[in-house]
Amino acid sequence: MTTPTRTTPTRTTSTPLAARLADVRARIVEACERVGRDPASVTLVGVSKTQPPEVVREAIAAGLLDLGENRAQDLLAQAQAPAAAGLAPRWHFIGHLQRNKVREVLPHIYALHSLDSARLIEEMERRWDARGAAGPPPGRLPCYIEVNIGGEAQKTGIAPAALPALLASASASPVVAVTGLMTVAPQVVDPEETRPIFRALRELAAAHGLRGLSMGMTEDYPVAIEEGATVVRVGRAIFGERRA
Ligand SMILES: *Cc1c(COP(=O)(O)O)cnc(C)c1O
Repeated sequence: MTTPTRTTPTRTTSTPLAARLADVRARIVEACERVGRDPASVTLVGVSKTQPPEVVREAIAAGLLDLGENRAQDLLAQAQAPAAAGLAPRWHFIGHLQRNKVREVLPHIYALHSLDSARLIEEMERRWDARGAAGPPPGRLPCYIEVNIGGEAQKTGIAPAALPALLASASASPVVAVTGLMTVAPQVVDPEETRPIFRALRELAAAHGLRGLSMGMTEDYPVAIEEGATVVRVGRAIFGERRA
């Protein structure tokens, strides 16, 4: 036995992070079983915000190949750090994307979960050349439109009533492909309280012929899956509490 180095893929449950990841994956399977869904229809995005690059490499080595960040500078730092040997993750941008960060972020992301304005689409069109040929798959950028379905005043995302206009802008654009809708549910004591939010997002998506649903975080991803989530964005349940 050689001593594993930080860059050696281990794919075991022997580290605390790998054990937590295995636990999350098991709970995803259980939630799917409860409602008769195929677990392969749910993508787990590990939200690595505030975690140092070596922890992210550990997660990649444990097989977590979809990762999310919500701030441009953090996404850039993580995406530019060397990945675990031979394993390149797909980076998902999950926070509000400022237009002045579009040029830097575009080359590194696999999907955008927080499309929230026609002006952001215009900026992506203007900066599309930055995406280049390397890295992300060719073609349009998969996007989820972020909807503030709970109507909370402090939340990001568009109002449901604004969805048709933004969908029209997106469908006229050569650079974005709207995959579905995304929401961040309000913090509640009992995760069951988020069920109506997730259900409302599913119904809104279905009304517009959209299949993708990016919804569910550490506290509520099993409920989100029961309500149809195709992507769950899970941070603390995998990585532990956030660092300062
Ligand atoms: C931080 C964050 C998450 C993950 O949150 P956890 O509670 O740690 O699972 C998911 N989505 C968004 C948009 C986030 O900012």
